[in-house]
Amino acid sequence: MRLLNFLGVPLLVGCALMARAGSPPDALPALEHFDPAQVDKTLDPCSDFFQYACSKWIKANPIPPDMSRSGTFTKLFIWSVSAVHSTLEDAANASDRTPVEQKVGDYYASCMDEATINKLGIDPLKPELDRIAALHDKSQLPEVIASIHQVIRPANLNFIDAEYQGVLFGLYAQPDFDNARITLAALDQSGMGLPGREFYLNDDDKSKEIREQYLKHIAKMLELSGEPQTQAAADAKVILAMETSLARAAMEIIARRDPKNQNNKMSLTQVQALTPSFNWSRYFAAMHAPASPQYVVLAPEFFRGMEKLITSESLDHWQAYLRYSTLSFSAPLLSQPFEDENFDFFGRRLSGSKELQPRWRRCSQSADFDLGEAVGQAYVARYFPPESKQSTVQMVKAIETALHQDIDAATWMSPHTKQLAHIKLAAQIDKIGYPDHWRDYSSLVIKRDDYLGNMQRSASFEINRRMSKFGQPSDRYEWGMTPATVNAYEDTQSNTINFPAGILQPPFFDSKAIEAVNYGAIGAVIGHEITHGFDDQGRKFDDNGNLTDWWTAADAANYDERDKCLQDEYTQEVPEAGVKQNGKLSAGEDTADNGGIHLALAALQNTLKTQGKDLDTAAGNGLTESQSFFLAYANVWCGESRPEAARTAVMTQGHSLNRYRVNNVVANMPEFAHAFGCHSGQQMVHANACRVW
Ligand SMILES: [Zn+2]
Repeated sequence: MRLLNFLGVPLLVGCALMARAGSPPDALPALEHFDPAQVDKTLDPCSDFFQYACSKWIKANPIPPDMSRSGTFTKLFIWSVSAVHSTLEDAANASDRTPVEQKVGDYYASCMDEATINKLGIDPLKPELDRIAALHDKSQLPEVIASIHQVIRPANLNFIDAEYQGVLFGLYAQPDFDNARITLAALDQSGMGLPGREFYLNDDDKSKEIREQYLKHIAKMLELSGEPQTQAAADAKVILAMETSLARAAMEIIARRDPKNQNNKMSLTQVQALTPSFNWSRYFAAMHAPASPQYVVLAPEFFRGMEKLITSESLDHWQAYLRYSTLSFSAPLLSQPFEDENFDFFGRRLSGSKELQPRWRRCSQSADFDLGEAVGQAYVARYFPPESKQSTVQMVKAIETALHQDIDAATWMSPHTKQLAHIKLAAQIDKIGYPDHWRDYSSLVIKRDDYLGNMQRSASFEINRRMSKFGQPSDRYEWGMTPATVNAYEDTQSNTINFPAGILQPPFFDSKAIEAVNYGAIGAVIGHEITHGFDDQGRKFDDNGNLTDWWTAADAANYDERDKCLQDEYTQEVPEAGVKQNGKLSAGEDTADNGGIHLALAALQNTLKTQGKDLDTAAGNGLTESQSFFLAYANVWCGESRPEAARTAVMTQGHSLNRYRVNNVVANMPEFAHAFGCHSGQQMVHANACRVW
């Protein structure tokens, strides 16, 4: 499953944000509601709309010390984790429990048992480390890597735009690019501890400084595991060099955005030919993987690089690499010194956070990550009323209608391409809130006194669940996010848009707000996800989710020209991140932002029309309908990132930073200029306004 999400960094995931004991709140924090009085009237909306809409909010809401950014998103995230936490506490302490409550309650309790975790130190990881130490020949790598892949939970599993964050390479299940109804095994580049290949290869001072710090971090982790200092320092150099080789072999981030570059289907014999020194039959046998009709090798050059590394590096070096990788992925589950060192590098240095998140919050996120569809049952029952689902379904329909109208009105598409675009849109499945059928975790053993074991068995449950799909029909109704997640996504191969219950809360969806506010907030999110099906990647897939070119050559050329306008516009200096943004990397997300708000505004306009109103009508809050819409849109993006997090985001993710998700978008819209009386020559009125959808 390849997800194009709304937010970028998945807040409920992330091995970098670690835990420390702290008192959980007695009650949930208050939810935010859109407030028209929030604007700074001393500023001019036409010169910097983000400042106008958000500067007061940002001043009143500094970045919490345990976070790398602030925002209305972050606030709802903390609310959502608190809500999950409240259900977990009840499940942990209830006397007469259902099987689902036993699993989530005991999982949570095992994570909160810091005394036991600290007493055990590194002991729970000994079987893995012993297996690595017992290697006596590189030909045994397939079995030992399989044993690691069975118990290590890869980070960012569903957010693989740039890298699959795992040990050496990634294995998952994904629909066939050419026939999305069948799921195949996919092999992907991975094995790098830093957030992207550029972190290894770039030559600027900041990149060099990060690599120096990473080297120290690796050595420190190895020392904590019992290595003498000099050996740890020498091993760290070897490990960084090996990861750098993997980075060199990995597909470059822009090339990775073109699905054609990833569609390399091979037989097992062909995969084997890529890496003569790594026996895939033995790896898959050790994984207990069913045979896949074919294997999608997303980055063949990476596997050629892996082969070179296997032959060039000594057994000692491989043992050091595997020891560190295993430690690094397990650090959050081990005793305090491992957790602290892990946070110091990934949390403090790479993301700019000042302190660990409280332990209750971290344990709640972890339970949601591993048992999301068990945790989600109580969450949805308590916090997601059926009316929220009904209202969202209606808005989704209204916004899809707006895209049908937009396609009809497009002057740059031929009737043939338009017809196929309509068919694709009509075939899209809208998933709202939570799955129709909950995942069955009954075969997963959860023990109240074994946190690392719970995590390892959960990882194993998940990888086996994914492998069981090899060669099987794809399930379009499966979810790639848990119900409590504050995010949304589009999945092109299943042709679905997905809105977890977690984001259907104020200030995104607010049952007490006027329609203009809901269309500006959650409506733009919905429009964003729908547009992904028609962005520079999505448009290459048809109604069935197959990688098929259904555009006439002339229409495709017109599309590319419009798309290039956005790419040029977003290729810009981002001073707060200290790096330049590459509009080719963010093209899909920027297209979705720009298209999403257009569609939401058109849907609002249609709705108002049925009530005898238009966008200029007074909305009863001191603003017009369209002013309310645009301010509610900006409100979703109020907030800022720490410079470290901003830099990583601009370099590795498709999402523009908040300020640009507001200003670049509205400056492309004549409707915005009209709403706030802006005129040409002002900053929020682009002379060369871009528009795809
Ligand atoms: Zn997106």
